[in-house]
Amino acid sequence: MKIKDKGGQNLPSRTFYHEGESLFSYLSRTAHNNGISLLLLLNMIRKNEKYLLHKGDIRRIDYYPQSIFDLHKLIKLTGLTQSNVYESSFTNVLHVFGYDSHAEKARLMRNMLRETLHYCTQCLGEGLGYNLMWKVVGVDCCLLHNQRLLNGCLHCKQEIGYYDIITIDRCPHCDQSLTGILPDYQGQVENWELQQSFQTNLNLLIRGTNLRFDSQDLAQKLLYSMNKFKPVYQSSTIRESLDGYSLTHLLQHARKTMKTSRNISLLFVLKTLHSQSIDLNSFFAMEIPRTFIDSLLEGNSIQWTREFSCRAPWCRERGKQNSLIPTSSKHVIKSGKRFSHYLVCRECYCEYAFDEKKNLVERTNFISAFEILNKQNISKMNWPEKINCFSTNREPIRRAVAYFCARQLFKGEILHGENNTDILLLKKFISALRRGDSISDIRHSTLWRNYDQYLLHRYHPVVMKEIFDKRYIENSVR
Ligand SMILES: [Zn+2]
Ligand SMILES: [Zn+2]
Ligand SMILES: [Zn+2]
Repeated sequence: MKIKDKGGQNLPSRTFYHEGESLFSYLSRTAHNNGISLLLLLNMIRKNEKYLLHKGDIRRIDYYPQSIFDLHKLIKLTGLTQSNVYESSFTNVLHVFGYDSHAEKARLMRNMLRETLHYCTQCLGEGLGYNLMWKVVGVDCCLLHNQRLLNGCLHCKQEIGYYDIITIDRCPHCDQSLTGILPDYQGQVENWELQQSFQTNLNLLIRGTNLRFDSQDLAQKLLYSMNKFKPVYQSSTIRESLDGYSLTHLLQHARKTMKTSRNISLLFVLKTLHSQSIDLNSFFAMEIPRTFIDSLLEGNSIQWTREFSCRAPWCRERGKQNSLIPTSSKHVIKSGKRFSHYLVCRECYCEYAFDEKKNLVERTNFISAFEILNKQNISKMNWPEKINCFSTNREPIRRAVAYFCARQLFKGEILHGENNTDILLLKKFISALRRGDSISDIRHSTLWRNYDQYLLHRYHPVVMKEIFDKRYIENSVR
């Protein structure tokens, strides 16, 4: 067989392209309309003159046609436009995710493209050809005809491989027509909403809107939406939506610590868009808060904080490794000072952070209060004297005193009149927390005689543990 390119002639019969149709389908119809074989047509437009296209190349047509065809020849011969060629293949999809010259090697759609024909009999009956989306795993129905896609011939029941197709609306095994539904066919669509979101987003990608995602941006947006759009990264929240996908893989992309170039799967992207109820355009336009990115990136760089341990003199974990656990990584500027890398002791609940010179600073003021209480008897002091003595405001003093009072670390009355915790009140506090009441709701509830009584229970080890577990253990940073 010798095919000569005669300076790009048109074919005798021009074939009309249907919106949504796959290039394979279009070229098959074109070959059929002109009375030539598909392989002959493919070879008339092949890219590499020295390489004759064969049956095995058929599956490449719809993926990234530039890699096997000379697009100028293709366009000239058939009358398709370049945008038709792009839309009838996954070219735009690959471009959206940043693949270009080596796009055919991209594994973006690995395990996502079907080898056998899935089809809507009504579309075929109307002469619309094969829709490109039918090739994609996860596309299970035709939204136009509200019908489940068929996998295989209704007559002989055999599956139809793309290589074997001769005429697009006939079964290559039994030569029966693939159009028209048999009377007992039950084609109801399941998961209509999933199908709708999946196909709408996929269609947007195929149509090649001007969206562009690089893998870091994509991973960060996926993680942020799986984080339920909360401002601080919480792996436990994200894990709920992973559906078997690898968190490590996403984190490596998000932090740019990838060692191999394994792509994020498009199937996962589309499923996530659905599970987080977000459409592709909003996903693209989504702004990720700085706090989220910081917390995400910091998960990677908190190792050095592990050298530090709790410094509270009364704490059993004092000086022990891993006594401090990282909490949110927000950077906070307080009274002109910048703090970062917040840590909390799992035993005494003292909170720490680092100043700009990476010095560990206790943020709860319990340690300094402890030192003062050790030296001074404050029970006879009035407020101005206490404020002078602690060199801080009333509120931190009241909290610290309640904290130590609840632990009975100092003899004598340090919290006037309210030195005893009540087990029943502690229980009520904890059940309110478990119910999901906020601390502020509990503070203003009718449980308390006065503020000091509330503080005494709020800073009791049992309640502090409950708050700590709720805040940091359930939503551990790693
Ligand atoms: Zn249809
Ligand atoms: Zn058949
Ligand atoms: Zn401690």
